[in-house]
Amino acid sequence: MHLKKSIRSLLTLIFISLTYSGTYLFAFQSTLDVLHYEVSLEPDIPTESVRGSVTIGFNLPPDEHTIELNSGSLTIDSVKGIFVQQFSHTGDELLIRLSEDRDNENELTIQYHGNPPKGLHFIPEKNQAYTVYFTEYWMVLNPDPGDKATITMNILVDKELDCIASGALISVQEKEGKHVYKWEQNFDSPAYTFGFAIGSFKQQVMKLDKVTIRNYGFGYSSDELKQIFIETPDMISFFEEKTGIEYFNSTYSQILIGNHYQEMSGFSVLRASYGSLVLADSTETNLISHELAHQWWGNRITCAGWEHFWLNEAFATFMSAAYNEHRFGRDKYVSDIDAYYAVYKDIKDRNNDKSLVFENWINPSKDDRNLVYFKGAYVLHLLREELGDEVFWAGIRYYSRKYFDQTVTTSDFHHAMETVSDRDLNSFFDEWVY
Ligand SMILES: [Zn+2]
Repeated sequence: MHLKKSIRSLLTLIFISLTYSGTYLFAFQSTLDVLHYEVSLEPDIPTESVRGSVTIGFNLPPDEHTIELNSGSLTIDSVKGIFVQQFSHTGDELLIRLSEDRDNENELTIQYHGNPPKGLHFIPEKNQAYTVYFTEYWMVLNPDPGDKATITMNILVDKELDCIASGALISVQEKEGKHVYKWEQNFDSPAYTFGFAIGSFKQQVMKLDKVTIRNYGFGYSSDELKQIFIETPDMISFFEEKTGIEYFNSTYSQILIGNHYQEMSGFSVLRASYGSLVLADSTETNLISHELAHQWWGNRITCAGWEHFWLNEAFATFMSAAYNEHRFGRDKYVSDIDAYYAVYKDIKDRNNDKSLVFENWINPSKDDRNLVYFKGAYVLHLLREELGDEVFWAGIRYYSRKYFDQTVTTSDFHHAMETVSDRDLNSFFDEWVY
């Protein structure tokens, strides 16, 4: 297959990024509603370890007395709270028993430490660390993507290091000869979008009216960072127009670090070597636009469960092609869609085609993962062809605005597109989606 390098990169990253969602299906589907996480963290880069605490503010119906949280491989040192009776910790499950006479709104604090085997990556030789995908390996949390929350992070780092995290930077204060970076996010997003990156970076800043874009890398000059991320302001405007929703955070940071790609709330990490790819070919920006698109589709309009994950990934993948059309012309769009179709056709030819809605997302195969991204993006293209540009984009905007800050199912999307097009789309969705 003749695929653009950035699309090939996307194919390889999917293998890593989707392995995490399977385990979450085993999670206890509780009615726990986390409102806010306040995290204090001390990552130690030389020993690749972390120590921390998380205070969780939550709602739980009065007739429920047990909370189940995910703690990855962390060691739990204590669980404290006025209404905490006892806790037990088995594997990655932390069960906390609350007294029966507790208040409806509640709070508890968990102290923990560990050497995360994943989720928090350390690069001691570069004095860097960054999070990716498995948030529960560095903070205890409710893994349900439908349970969105706000977060405050206080991260203790050596004085010579920068720390970029979800939300907005509130303060940098001295403590024990180090710096505590306080980042706060005052809007809800799912726990898998929380994260941070630490290192001594070259920084390049782009100022827009309401957003400051900060680009970070190691081994790139400021001019090179500017060149790599030159499209970002236009991408933000493009997605604002397509969603009808202004970008909502005061900053958007892009960090070239390590060996992964992931959107997080308010920032993205991109593989360190990816910058060279864009410097060599300025149209290889699919991953920059893909991760940026997730700030809307994924982070704020979030799949209600992993079976609807295509609503996150197909959208981001399709939108990177749509941006290329806007910026580089129709041929670029067509070549991206052709590449997506080639991935899908290869899976179909091997009789591994499936519905985009995975009822049983427990052990997704590589093909299953690729279907969610590439068949999904191709299907959005087909829907665009079916409805015509005007109706399709009006539908996307209606869906995005209606479900902003909410969780979505496939039928929410289906019905939004029917409402705007005033058409019965059952046969299209039956053929391509369900
Ligand atoms: Zn993605």
